[in-house]
Amino acid sequence: MNNATNPVRVRFAPSPTGHLHIGGLRTTLFNWLFAKHNNGKFLLRIEDTDRERSTQAYTDSIIASLEWLGLIPDEPIMIQSSRIDEHIQLAQALIEQGKAYRCICTQEEVLDRYTSHGGNPEQVKYDGKCRNQNKETDKPYVIRFAIPEDIDSIVFNDLIRGTVTIARDQLDDFIIVRSDGTPMYNFVVVADDAYMRISHIIRGEEHIINTPKQILLYQACNYAIPTFAHIPLVLGPSGQKLSKREAATSVIEYKKAGFLPEALINYLVRLGWSHGDQEKFTREELITYFDLSQVSSSGAIFDIEKLLWLNSVYMREKTDEQLYDLLHTEYGHILDNKNMAIPLIGLYKERTRALKELYDVIVNTIQGPAEYHDIYLQPLRTQQMVALLKQLVNKLEHLSVWNADSITNTIKIFAKEMHQKIADIMNPLRVALIGQHSGPGAGTLAALLGKEETVRRLTRLYDTIERM
Ligand code: GLU
Repeated sequence: MNNATNPVRVRFAPSPTGHLHIGGLRTTLFNWLFAKHNNGKFLLRIEDTDRERSTQAYTDSIIASLEWLGLIPDEPIMIQSSRIDEHIQLAQALIEQGKAYRCICTQEEVLDRYTSHGGNPEQVKYDGKCRNQNKETDKPYVIRFAIPEDIDSIVFNDLIRGTVTIARDQLDDFIIVRSDGTPMYNFVVVADDAYMRISHIIRGEEHIINTPKQILLYQACNYAIPTFAHIPLVLGPSGQKLSKREAATSVIEYKKAGFLPEALINYLVRLGWSHGDQEKFTREELITYFDLSQVSSSGAIFDIEKLLWLNSVYMREKTDEQLYDLLHTEYGHILDNKNMAIPLIGLYKERTRALKELYDVIVNTIQGPAEYHDIYLQPLRTQQMVALLKQLVNKLEHLSVWNADSITNTIKIFAKEMHQKIADIMNPLRVALIGQHSGPGAGTLAALLGKEETVRRLTRLYDTIERM
């Protein structure tokens, strides 16, 4: 695909009106992989021409998310608003060439004329009234693109959807510059993609309706028309476009929840693209195998359970030290005690599926239960249990060697002496230590926490029961 005359250059072009979202990330990924696979360039353009809704904070957030994921642009980031003078000059040139015109019709006039002829007010089309009166004017005006008379349809080949045909009558002379002098999306996107020598436009399918307008603009400006690939939407479980109601949509939320970048990338790339049955890919494998022809043309449903599974697989591949560094950087100081945190990571990493979950169980173990849950506490509310726990404390206090084996053995012998099942001692001990029944072996936990802390937590449990 790449050769000296037509190198692959692709771009991701987010509007900084929100954080990077999951759909945008998948679009970025497909662009990035396509560029890398073809020895091309991946570029980033911030489309900030909607001055009211764009913010620097969102620009920074999008860039930070991409950095976190290692999807780094190959050239300096392009800020669309920095080229506004060029955009306006281009619009003027189109007017001079008779390919665009000033239109003084107000929105109300356009609407009235359209609906008075029975047109649907939801899909208003301009009737071309100002097309032939293209003079300088003192009145406020927009600049409209004059769709050439001699075309019946616009046809293009989409790398994912095949041939797409749009009839001429679906389009009207659309606005390229608003009355306040700001250029519109369809116009600037063409001006900038041409300026950046973009060879392939890979973007979400919601833009497919814009493509015919953009193709007409490319032709009017005598620019080479890039190749288009419109990728299907990421859908929520309901089959509708993924929405905040159904799942977190911002990439930063996934970072906060403790998803690893490699897991998120691996999951998202598989959403709509496949390479046989392979589920897990290294970045190098993705670059080698990625091909737009394997991207499905139907929407893909976002499945958080599968993402969690993949994340847990990647978590398990990390060493305890690596996970410690990740947890410490993301969530902070409570894990300062590395000697305690590292073994706990080892104990819990296979039981959790995201870093935040891992962090929470570790903090819970280090701090002990803030309060006991009724479902665990109520069954322990007997005099016999209080007596049992007191005796257990006594046994443990006299233990000279404090490690998982010695503690577990002591508990086993103690259970036998007291004619109890081992679980009937281990479970209350786990409730004392971490506030629940499930979790790592109670002997292992007690060994890590130390004798003093174990005794303190057991004492607190029976004190609580006695006071109920
Ligand atoms: N700025 C547009 C958006 O955020 C993208 C335009 C494009 O990719 O052509 O949806």
